[in-house]
Amino acid sequence: MIPLVKPMVGIEEQMLMNEVLFSGKLAQGEYVEKFERDFALYLGSNYCVATSSGTSALHIALLSSGIQPGEKVITTPFSFIATANAILYAQAVPVFSDIELQDYNISPQCLLDTIKKHPDSKAMIIVHLYGHPACMEEIMEIANQYNLIVIEDCAQAHGASINGKKVGTFGHFGAFSFYPTKNMTCGEGGMITTQVKEMVQKARSLINHGQTAKYHHDLLGYNYRMTNIHAAIGIEQLHKLPGFNERRKEIAKRYSREITNPAFMKPICLPGFEHVYHQYTLAVNNRNRFITFLEAKGIGYGIHYPKTIPDQPLYLQRENLGSFTNARKAAERVVSIPVHPALTEQEVDYIISNLQKYAENE
Ligand SMILES: *Cc1c(COP(=O)(O)O)cnc(C)c1O
Repeated sequence: MIPLVKPMVGIEEQMLMNEVLFSGKLAQGEYVEKFERDFALYLGSNYCVATSSGTSALHIALLSSGIQPGEKVITTPFSFIATANAILYAQAVPVFSDIELQDYNISPQCLLDTIKKHPDSKAMIIVHLYGHPACMEEIMEIANQYNLIVIEDCAQAHGASINGKKVGTFGHFGAFSFYPTKNMTCGEGGMITTQVKEMVQKARSLINHGQTAKYHHDLLGYNYRMTNIHAAIGIEQLHKLPGFNERRKEIAKRYSREITNPAFMKPICLPGFEHVYHQYTLAVNNRNRFITFLEAKGIGYGIHYPKTIPDQPLYLQRENLGSFTNARKAAERVVSIPVHPALTEQEVDYIISNLQKYAENE
């Protein structure tokens, strides 16, 4: 069985973790600070604040932006549920705005319609799904025009860029995840990026029980801190990230060139965009038939995601605002195949030759 994902950690992560373990400083400290500095430098972000997960990074980005209970936040209906749940944590109201079927990201045109229908919206969370950046230049123009805060959910797009500018540096905030299935990992962890200096103190305080001086608490905060142990893994993973992403792109390039079977709609990469292929996601008409085929061939796969967020039971209990026709179409058709950097050339050959043999109906 060729697995869909496989984290790659080595001796470098182990050595630095050992250093932390015997330093006596297991919780937050200098390794977390170094990881934040390194990540900021890599991205070209002014500031970075490390957190316990991608979800906590999204939550704190929203709270730092000053979103109040009952206020509307626009987001995509087609993402991992954490994106929208962060809005619920802040007691704000998600408004879903439909995606573009070519890249599965929020559509700027649809975003304009959503803002016109919900002119009281205060912010948006934009996801760079599967590692392909959303159209940030258009989106920032709209955000500036309507005075909306932009939070980029970069959990699947470490290092992805548009005309050389990396995602996580376009909006007021970015949120990254270092879960083991992502392009780089810490075990569990997250990072908030921001370009706004005033937001850094607020985010730092909110991840640390709202503390602004020792045992002085101004705000209701959380324990969302990253530990030195996790940061040690992250520091070494960040060194490897460019190589990991190159390998993902190389495999994706082979897939895109060599899979010519008309049963599949392949992912696109818009001109000037750098796709980091967190997933290589195909669209197929008869998904059940295709996944039975993949199982028979021992090729791992994933469905990201089988349901739109507003179609999840948790959200069906609420009144869902917005539009999600394309998202529903995508949810019925998508299948991700392995594209992780641990794949061997033989495994890639095997996947390609089998996909070429797949027959939609027989
Ligand atoms: C993984 C992921 C998250 C959540 O990150 P965690 O570190 O697992 O909390 C949020 N948004 C998207 C799009 C993700 O893929």
